[in-house]
Amino acid sequence: MLIRSGDTVEVITGADRGVRSRVILVDRASGKALVEGVAKVYKHVRRSQKYPQGGRLSKEMPVQLSNVQFFCASCNKPVRLGARFLKDGSKERYCKKCGSSVGQIAPPKKAHSM
Ligand SMILES: [Zn+2]
Repeated sequence: MLIRSGDTVEVITGADRGVRSRVILVDRASGKALVEGVAKVYKHVRRSQKYPQGGRLSKEMPVQLSNVQFFCASCNKPVRLGARFLKDGSKERYCKKCGSSVGQIAPPKKAHSM
């Protein structure tokens, strides 16, 4: 699971297909993510201390991670991500299409000099 919160993803299926947005939260246990503006629902809330007005509250529902794809800025399209070790033993995510790095995911470590 290489998608992280803060990533830009494109929805590849369902009602919000084609929408490009930012990941708010990734739930690794359920394999789902909250994506800004995707899978919006209205939650009806009663008047309460927190919501003195009550009414309808718009919020995102989690979407299955298989329904979104990482959006590569240099390819300008949704791509698959890979993970690879660098020469110094650190690990990074990269775009499998153009090979560009999308950030380190682990600090340098020894014993990866293959
Ligand atoms: Zn790319």
